[in-house]
Amino acid sequence: MNKKRVLIVGGGASGLMAAIMAAREGAEVTILEHNERPGKKICATGNGKCNLTNTEMPADAFRGTDAEFVQDVLKQFPVAETIRFFTELGIYTVNKNGGLYPRSAQASSVTDVLCMEARSRKVKIKTNEHVTNVFREQEIWKVLTEGWTYEADSVILANGSCASAVSGSDGSGYELAQNLGHQIIKPLPALTGLRCQPSASGYSRKLLSLWAGVRTAGEVTVFVDGIPVSSQKGELQLTDYGISGIPVFQLSRYAIRALEDGCDVKLSVNFLPEFSPEALHAFLDSRRKNCPYKNEPEMLTGLFPDKLIKVLCQAPDLEKAIHEFPLHVTAGLDFKQAQVCSGGVDTSEINPETLESRIHKNLFFAGELIDIDGTCGGYNLQWAWSSGAVAGLHAAVTHCSI
Ligand SMILES: Cc1cc2nc3c(=O)[nH]c(=O)nc-3n(C[C@H](O)[C@H](O)[C@H](O)COP(=O)(O)OP(=O)(O)OC[C@H]3O[C@@H](n4cnc5c(N)ncnc54)[C@H](O)[C@@H]3O)c2cc1C
Repeated sequence: MNKKRVLIVGGGASGLMAAIMAAREGAEVTILEHNERPGKKICATGNGKCNLTNTEMPADAFRGTDAEFVQDVLKQFPVAETIRFFTELGIYTVNKNGGLYPRSAQASSVTDVLCMEARSRKVKIKTNEHVTNVFREQEIWKVLTEGWTYEADSVILANGSCASAVSGSDGSGYELAQNLGHQIIKPLPALTGLRCQPSASGYSRKLLSLWAGVRTAGEVTVFVDGIPVSSQKGELQLTDYGISGIPVFQLSRYAIRALEDGCDVKLSVNFLPEFSPEALHAFLDSRRKNCPYKNEPEMLTGLFPDKLIKVLCQAPDLEKAIHEFPLHVTAGLDFKQAQVCSGGVDTSEINPETLESRIHKNLFFAGELIDIDGTCGGYNLQWAWSSGAVAGLHAAVTHCSI
């Protein structure tokens, strides 16, 4: 019996995983990757250390038009399976607050073991091959690159998104899917910083240049048309364009999608979330009483970084500024500065059990190309591993119609 030919567009996290799974099922697998080497983005993850998954998998770590879609996929290839898979491949993981990283502290180790395993399973990894079109002719899939036409029984689109400056993420997968009749939920940057202006009267527009470079603990809440949508705590990075840091990354997709929909988007930053308003009032009072010789900025010394004090002391109401610093979001940073995209191939046109297209038989999707995005903490890679594994398995075993 002839082996099933599986062709994978994109040799990133989900594509490499899909290739290994399909090859383990006995398929003849080829990856087409337009970079000079596969897994380039994996090497940039987790500040070069690769937060490859997380021991906690709350449902709200995944977002999308239908975020529930993730659960059917995760059930088939859960975190435990991911850990087992990578352990077998040689990655010894260490746990940092739930996030799992390779002990080597090198993201490239993850790419390396995936490539070693793929090659040992006879997966052909063809680099410098940019896929320009995918179509079906007489029940055979044809995949066009600039110099060749490949044929396959099944195709997996694992092109990733258009996020990050890491080369390879050119968003061409959306066009390939669209040409095949799939709807694309408009891709927008996510896990990124937000451009802002102070939003209350009495605050100078130039205020933000004063706090640029500050890192401080706090809580940020995003309001869409006046309604609180999400709050996140952690280390905030204050910049001349606005605000960044992990808590801002986590809620950026809500802010950016709401701006796209024409909504009014505001942030309220609490620079001292560990105090209630009453406790803050009493606390500041006692500081004033303890050291009556200090002026207001001096009274805040030791509580906040100096640059932040300069900004807070220009506010018309100090206590309000500490607890509810108002920012008007004007834009997100662009795709190059985003870690992922929200949006992508519409999940209502994909079978969550198999990740096969509901429009075309033997066409599958994996990874960030699909309308699913995760929060920081290893969730985007977990989605890439789980969706890659499910797509690879089903692409290899589904009935071959030729
Ligand atoms: C700086 C940074 C840090 C991150 N850190 C983390 C982290 O620590 N943990 C985490 O969970 N997530 C992290 N992410 C997100 C995570 O890297 C991605 O979600 C994940 O890599 C997506 O996998 P993918 O397979 O869908 O896409 P990718 O890994 O982007 O792979 C897609 C591949 O397809 C190729 N390709 C695209 N179009 C074509 C075409 N037409 N022809 C041929 N090849 C094509 C691309 O070159 C690429 O190699 C980070 C992202 C960035 C940018």
